[in-house]
Amino acid sequence: MDNAGYATHDVYNQSGTLADVDLFSNDMALREACRAFGADWAEDRLRKTGGIVGSAHVQQLARDANRSPPELRTHDRFGNRIDEVHFHPAWHELMSLAFGSEAHSLAWTEPRRGSHVARGILSYLWNQGENGVCCPLSMTFASVSALRHAPNLFDRWKPQILSDRHDPRQRVAEGKSGLTVGMAMTEKQCGSDLRQTQTVAKPASADNGPGSLWLLTGHKWFFSVPQSDLFLTLARTPNGISCFLARGWLPDGRRNRLKLQRLKEKCGNRSNASSEVEFHGLEAELIGEEGRGIRAILEMAHLTRMECAISAAGLMRQAVSQAIHHVSHRVAFQRRLVDQPLMAQVVADLALEAEAAMWMGLRLAATLDAHDEAEQRLGRVAIPMAKYWACKRTPAVVAEALECHGGNGFIEDHLMARLYREAPLNGIWEGSGNVICLDVARALRSDPEAAEVFLQELHTVKGFDRWLDAAVGGLADSLPKLTRDEASARSVVEDMANAFQAMLMLRHAPADVAEAFCATRLGSGRHGAFGGSGVMLPAQSIIDRARVTN
Ligand SMILES: Cc1cc2nc3c(=O)[nH]c(=O)nc-3n(C[C@H](O)[C@H](O)[C@H](O)COP(=O)(O)OP(=O)(O)OC[C@H]3O[C@@H](n4cnc5c(N)ncnc54)[C@H](O)[C@@H]3O)c2cc1C
Repeated sequence: MDNAGYATHDVYNQSGTLADVDLFSNDMALREACRAFGADWAEDRLRKTGGIVGSAHVQQLARDANRSPPELRTHDRFGNRIDEVHFHPAWHELMSLAFGSEAHSLAWTEPRRGSHVARGILSYLWNQGENGVCCPLSMTFASVSALRHAPNLFDRWKPQILSDRHDPRQRVAEGKSGLTVGMAMTEKQCGSDLRQTQTVAKPASADNGPGSLWLLTGHKWFFSVPQSDLFLTLARTPNGISCFLARGWLPDGRRNRLKLQRLKEKCGNRSNASSEVEFHGLEAELIGEEGRGIRAILEMAHLTRMECAISAAGLMRQAVSQAIHHVSHRVAFQRRLVDQPLMAQVVADLALEAEAAMWMGLRLAATLDAHDEAEQRLGRVAIPMAKYWACKRTPAVVAEALECHGGNGFIEDHLMARLYREAPLNGIWEGSGNVICLDVARALRSDPEAAEVFLQELHTVKGFDRWLDAAVGGLADSLPKLTRDEASARSVVEDMANAFQAMLMLRHAPADVAEAFCATRLGSGRHGAFGGSGVMLPAQSIIDRARVTN
């Protein structure tokens, strides 16, 4: 920029924008994980998405979509009720790019080794670009698991749900080139405890078997992507809580019988619409058996919880990339910040956290690709574990990465401010922290062999690191206790996650990086602020590995 002629100042010593970078090819650890977990066949596609998501254009779209959040339009100009949501064009372009990358569908359209891992990487990349669109991506992806309980409905909608097209028209699903699927479960009085659902459903005819039509009356307090073409919801029926699939628009073109009350004004995820809704005889079809709705939802939650763990890892990755970029260009006290010993420790510590979260998320995506029982058992216990811990670490990582930017990080021009507002969200939806830790305990209780499978996974690196060996010994004692003692759940799940990540780092990362992780997360150092453990990290080696450059 030519500032000639301004007497007040020259602009220098600003870090510039990290953009137009392929976020896949430039991420050394990510490429290693892709190969380690059998997704290398997807590399061309991942590179393409890495380039798109890392572009200055997508950064601009994300900024625009978040600065011009969606608006609810309840009525048309004649007074007819329409209940539509109006978006900035940037949202639709982002949706087209994201659905075009198959981040919602690849695991289902390419059923081969590594397909959940490849899809997970697409999600990891999009979570570095724009988090709002990751909500419809994730729900559409996970809906497949619930829809499989209703084969007729699944067959009818599958081609459009798995299509790589975003069709922005808010109209009846027939004839659309692609569909999005939402989920409306949470009511005012209950989110975690869905057994308290008050919405009621009555059969529309004498047939009340799977696929039958019901009419729902009640409300939902959170309903994201309310412009969805289809959405899953829960309602009380004579035999308990049941799961339903509703259309947004009925075959005759009218809006299904729902009223969007308002859109939530949210702390983050502002590009995406989240609404409050009332059902006034909403037409919906029964999914699976009547009274078994929570079970169907929990199967889906297994996927969305994994998605939260991967999303959190993506968010941390972007925050760390930005921090490394900034400190590599900014000079203070005659030296680049990255060359200042204390800053180097902070940034290296952040990079360790982000890399370990990436390995954890993708290793668990691999459990969905495997068909053997041990992998499924491991996933059942370790997916909620990963969701809990990656989501807990994200706000801390993002806040510290923001601070690495000094004042610039706190200003809306920079994407750090958006990441900061986004950071707590994955920890809330799809089961908040305590609920998730209790789910790990439940998984261990309901499958007595699950603890053994988990410990065996840790034992694959037995003897590699003394801190990890000691941690595994501790877990052998604490896992059985977790099944009896709810109050200890957070501390045990945190220990599990740190040990699991350490195991993955020892298996896959360079020795000095892995040892640094073990020493700071499992060793005798303090677990306080990043860079403050008292263990001196091999900072340059860790930072060089994590650096993304344009
Ligand atoms: C931006 C956004 C979008 C959302 N979109 C959707 C959506 O599209 N569809 C949808 O259905 N929902 C959606 N939600 C809602 C979300 O899923 C719920 O907020 C979440 O499940 C928590 O439920 P709750 O808010 O009722 O909290 P509560 O269930 O009241 O929980 C409050 C706290 O208590 C803790 N807690 C609960 N039970 C226990 C226990 N037994 N022991 C210890 N602690 C416990 C929880 O961990 C939590 O920290 C969205 C939320 C947000 C913020």
